[in-house]
Amino acid sequence: MGIGIITSILLLVIIWYVYNDRCVVLKRYALPYGTIEIVDQSCHEGLPHTWSPSIIRMTESDWNSSRRDSILRHERVHLRQRTEPEAWRNFYRSEWGYEFTKQPPPGIPPHWLERLRPNPDTADGPWAVWRGRYVFFPTYRDAKRSLRSANVHVWDVLKKQIVDIPGSWKQHFCDGGNCPYQFEHPHEIAAEYITDNFNSPAAQQLAESLLVKQ
Ligand SMILES: [Zn+2]
Repeated sequence: MGIGIITSILLLVIIWYVYNDRCVVLKRYALPYGTIEIVDQSCHEGLPHTWSPSIIRMTESDWNSSRRDSILRHERVHLRQRTEPEAWRNFYRSEWGYEFTKQPPPGIPPHWLERLRPNPDTADGPWAVWRGRYVFFPTYRDAKRSLRSANVHVWDVLKKQIVDIPGSWKQHFCDGGNCPYQFEHPHEIAAEYITDNFNSPAAQQLAESLLVKQ
């Protein structure tokens, strides 16, 4: 006996929801560099993000706000990262000392792993390993597991413990006392540098790279 028509429809609905990441698209705007999908607050808690190399998602209130241009500048960097992932990875590796992986590096205790706060813009490798030793990753801050309130942690693979942000990292990535806000991942650091005109040594390397000049 085959599966019934109701079951088939239910399966299709489930597949549709999973494929669409449970986000309902309310409106679409076509821009020269991609499509803006207007989503509601239940889509990744209404946080702006990219969904493919040509799709940016945000809520109607962000679209209508004075933040729209800076959100678009930031998310367009993520579109470029999705379009040319290898070029960005090569830059992070050779200039910034980062590798990132989809699987957590061995040794991080399970209670940290299960608190990883997901981010669609870094989903190609959420674990960012700096200089082969320090693993940067974001976790939920509270039991409600809100995407909006995350802590960034640094795991030292040599000491096998959570450590403070290394001073040598700050020298390279901060502009004096001004450090990137979302320092969980090089994709986010790069988007912030380009959007906010940072002037750290790492930001200067990015500004001089072909990723930005082309
Ligand atoms: Zn971002």
